[in-house]
Amino acid sequence: MERTLILCKPDCIEKNLAGEVLARFARAGLRLQAAKMMRLTPAILTEHYSHLKDRPFFPEIVTFMSSQPVLAVILTGDQAVTKVRDLLGPTDSKKAAPGTIRGDLGTDNMRNIAHASDSVENAEIEVRRFFRPDEIPA
Ligand code: ADP
Repeated sequence: MERTLILCKPDCIEKNLAGEVLARFARAGLRLQAAKMMRLTPAILTEHYSHLKDRPFFPEIVTFMSSQPVLAVILTGDQAVTKVRDLLGPTDSKKAAPGTIRGDLGTDNMRNIAHASDSVENAEIEVRRFFRPDEIPA
């Protein structure tokens, strides 16, 4: 059993697609463990996207991701990390195959509907980054 951290990004919320995205995860057998709307600060985004801090588009990501609240979600299930990344598709929505969340619902490289942890190790770090222990039901 694994858990993974999802952020339904501002474009997802703007298009009112959070329900559609969560339904796709549920249909794949993943379970919702915790969820909350939150407005991300530049500080938490700088930590979360530290691997991109030297890229030219970094300031744009911070502006986009803090433009309105996101839905932070913890999902659990067998091979949850890989399953969710497969359902999401690659970073660039234009290159994501039809049938994937980004392929069907995303716009481009940045406006790609959702973030999902890319490894079991990062999932644990990201769960702790976005949720306090008392916000996660046992
Ligand atoms: P992923 O979200 O697929 O794990 P990355 O960790 O590489 O991808 O990038 C984090 C986020 O930064 C992406 O989801 C996207 O919103 C944004 N991003 C990545 N690459 C670009 C780019 N070339 N131009 C604009 N935004 C980008």
